[in-house]
Formats: sequence, C-alpha cells, structure tokens
Amino acid sequence: MTARHHIGDDLLLAYAAGNLAEGWSLAVATHVSLCAECRERLAVAEAAGGQLLETLDRETVAPDSWAAIRSRLGTPDAPAVTRRSSDTAILPKPLRDYVGGDVDAIRWQRLGKGAAQLRLKTGDRETQVRLLKIPAGKPVPEHSHSGREITVVLSGAFHDGTTLFARGDVEEADDDIQHIPTATPEADCICLAVTEAPLKFRSWIVRAIQPILGI
Ligand SMILES: [Zn+2]
Repeated sequence: MTARHHIGDDLLLAYAAGNLAEGWSLAVATHVSLCAECRERLAVAEAAGGQLLETLDRETVAPDSWAAIRSRLGTPDAPAVTRRSSDTAILPKPLRDYVGGDVDAIRWQRLGKGAAQLRLKTGDRETQVRLLKIPAGKPVPEHSHSGREITVVLSGAFHDGTTLFARGDVEEADDDIQHIPTATPEADCICLAVTEAPLKFRSWIVRAIQPILGI
C-alpha cells in the first residue's frame, strides 16, 4: 500500500519542530506511520535541525517551502525505496495509544444514517479529534467548517468529488469547503478526523443535536 495523498509541508515542518497541537500531531503521526515517503520527509525535516526551522515563521511557511528547504539542504528527492506499510493493523500505533488496538471493541456513537464516531480525548483545546465510520457506499453528513480539517483513512476508502482516498491517504480541507466524503461500496470506511473548530452541519436536525453529540 502506498499513500497517494500526503501531509502538507507546513504541517510536517511544524510537527518536526514540535509546534503542533496534540490533535494535529496525532494526524501527522498516524499518516507517517502508514507512509514510508513521509517518514523520509520527516527524517530530513528533523535532520535539518532547529537552526533552520527557527528561521521559519510557522504562520508564513509557503506551500513550496519543502522544495525550497530541500534545495537549500542539497537533499535529493526521496529515493525510490520499497514503500511498504510498517503497520498493518487498522489502528496504527499512534492511535492505539488512545483507543487500544481492537477496532471491533470500539463503542461507536451513532451519527445517523449508519455513520458513527468515537471522540478521542486530547490535552489541547485547539482541535477536536475523532474516529469516523462511514458505512459502505454512504456519505458522511454534509458539513463545512470554520477551519482546517484533516482526515486520514484507516480502512476502506472514500471519494470526495472525483478524488479517491484509501488507507493512509490524507485529505486536508479548510474554510468554506462543502464536501461530502462518500465511502466506496466495498466496505465501511474508518477515518481519523481532526478539526479545528466545531463542525457546522447544514441540516437543521444534525445542527440541533450537534451539542448533544459533541461535534
Ligand atoms: Zn505521506
């Protein structure tokens, strides 16, 4: 398995510098545990050391910063190594620390239409972290958000528009995106979802019960 959608440069660099809130860190760590390519990127970012990262303002890291840093470091592109998953359990190591290792033992909270979630407790107030289960062939309740949302696929797959996201893949969304991830028909899709702010559901029913669900 090779992830095709990766953690962005800004997140990876901030993670390497230890600047990320716990929720975002968990998303990065989960993807990295499933993606050999990003393990290499992270190793380079960490090897670059504090002096380089300290010169970068976290807020102003440009989208092409990774290429710029790599060229400054003279580091070649990631070699074509065998990209194998290092973690074959549905819940990779970073998540097992939060929810244990048995996905069948998870006590899901229903969201309606077969979807379900499990909130994960973190020590930061900046993010909301949950596992999300989307039933095969079904969409998650539509929503937009007032900040960043990072989704990492753990099992199954979903498509959002024409883009397919499978195990290990990361989808980053931000303000004003009305998107409807829909699980592929073959299997339920389980994802890690980290959001910046409470989700705003369009449906008044979902909105009405949002405080009860804690989403
Ligand atoms: Zn990756």
